[in-house]
Amino acid sequence: MRYFYIFLFTCLISISCSSNKSEPADLVFLNGTIYTVDESNPQVEAVAVKNGIILAVGSSEEIGEYISDQTEVVDLLGMTMTPGLIESHAHLMGIGYNKLELDLMYVKTYDELVEKVAEAVAKAEPGDWITGRGWHQDKWIEKPEKMVKGFQTNDQLNEVSPDNPVFLRHASGHATFANSKALELAGISNLKGERPGEVEGGEIILDELGNPTGVLTERASGIVGKLVPQETPERAAQALTLALKELAEKGITSFHDAGSGQETIDLLLKFKNEGKLTSRHYMMLAGSDPELLENWYKRGPMIDSVDHLFSVRSIKLFCDGALGSRGAWLLEEYTDRPGHFGHETLPMEVVGQVSEKAIPAGFQVNSHAIGDRANREVLDEYEAAFEKYPDAKDLRFRIEHAQHIDPEDIPRFGEMGVIAAMQAIHLSSDRPWAIDRLGEKRIVDGAYVWQKLMQSGAVVANGTDAPVEPVDPIPSFFASVSRQTLEGTPDGGYEASQKMTREEALKSYTLDGAYAEFEEDFKGSIEVGKAADFTVFDKNIMEIPESEILNSKVMMTIVGGKIVYEKPE
Ligand SMILES: [Zn+2]
Repeated sequence: MRYFYIFLFTCLISISCSSNKSEPADLVFLNGTIYTVDESNPQVEAVAVKNGIILAVGSSEEIGEYISDQTEVVDLLGMTMTPGLIESHAHLMGIGYNKLELDLMYVKTYDELVEKVAEAVAKAEPGDWITGRGWHQDKWIEKPEKMVKGFQTNDQLNEVSPDNPVFLRHASGHATFANSKALELAGISNLKGERPGEVEGGEIILDELGNPTGVLTERASGIVGKLVPQETPERAAQALTLALKELAEKGITSFHDAGSGQETIDLLLKFKNEGKLTSRHYMMLAGSDPELLENWYKRGPMIDSVDHLFSVRSIKLFCDGALGSRGAWLLEEYTDRPGHFGHETLPMEVVGQVSEKAIPAGFQVNSHAIGDRANREVLDEYEAAFEKYPDAKDLRFRIEHAQHIDPEDIPRFGEMGVIAAMQAIHLSSDRPWAIDRLGEKRIVDGAYVWQKLMQSGAVVANGTDAPVEPVDPIPSFFASVSRQTLEGTPDGGYEASQKMTREEALKSYTLDGAYAEFEEDFKGSIEVGKAADFTVFDKNIMEIPESEILNSKVMMTIVGGKIVYEKPE
């Protein structure tokens, strides 16, 4: 049996066909449980669509009026439909490349990681690079015997791959793991007697004898990373195709890319011109490339006000590391590494300089900040820049992640109109060990404080930071409302006062995401005149018990009135 009855309505006797009083629709959804995220009309049964835009909403009977013999009709059979979901922070090409290289995200032990590398080595030519990403030592169910500074060492990796260089990126993107062959090619082989492991903005982790363990944090990763063969245009197109498919399958209709360069922009434009974009895209320019920024300051933002498929209007700055690798920049030392505060990954005055250029040029600035020190410094830089342009309104600068904020700084988000682009799923994955890094007080006062931020008047946009986490919005929605791990622990959730309601969680994934890209008048809620972007679920994610949310599935994804995904039977 099919999940949906989709048919071209041929005017039969029983139901009245479009009379002259209603404009016929191209596409109609009937008999749904439809959450609109429109406060004035929160729930409806049916929607009519014409030319990619919502023509009418109402009861199935009312919307039946819009059916002509040219109308495609989807009978939702009671299923749940929401506005199309907006992923507000993830990495588009990373999602695609992840599918082209070793996916280590679901690896449960270090032995399993080594096994996967061994399999890849068996298939590779001598000297070929073995690349992968997504490993996370804190997600392994058991730790290897030898750990240095919280990470595994590469002894086993060297055994299975003596001749092929191996380079594996951490799930957070803030560390890498290389075998001896790769380190040797990069000239990192024996640091004994030299100044140990510190490099500018990162660290080559060494064991007690001064031997590199294979783990490189932050900018140290680049020493090996720059040797990995460059991606070809064919591979990039392949990766983008895979990423778009993944978004459609997961119900994502709009996507904020958290930092890319001109090559990716050109590729997206090419896909757009070829009619291959099955979701809408909002790009943050990679702030690590000053030349790219200079070019775009001159050019100004590219706002797609016709198709609303691809806009470039923001700049991404990377201001600190992540909690997992203890790179997040803190005001006080790490609870589990005394004397260590993490570090900034670019000089803070750069945030100010970029902001001052971005405002007159019409760009939004989106700064990655995880630790409380990084969040404060970014807010300070934004504030100073805003003061220089008192007449500039509606700037909507963002802080990406905003995971750990000093209580004094929380109200500043609302006051300054700074958007917190957070990823609820990080709480599920990270909260069990984040307390080791920060200790109880800092966790309770300022970590993952969605409610405190919303109550400060801040807009909180949701997402996954894929491929750090899978791009699937359902686990992130679950995390938003339960504050539990994906295993459903602890009972009642972590710091329960900070949970989102289901309505807030849905809004963070729709209308607030649209606001975060200046598109709330065009999409993010199901209202007449807005984009016909929808996500359909088999279960009513707004009503079912929390424990059932993770078993829900995306059944259909609609972008601009086109069905871009339908769950196969
Ligand atoms: Zn990111």
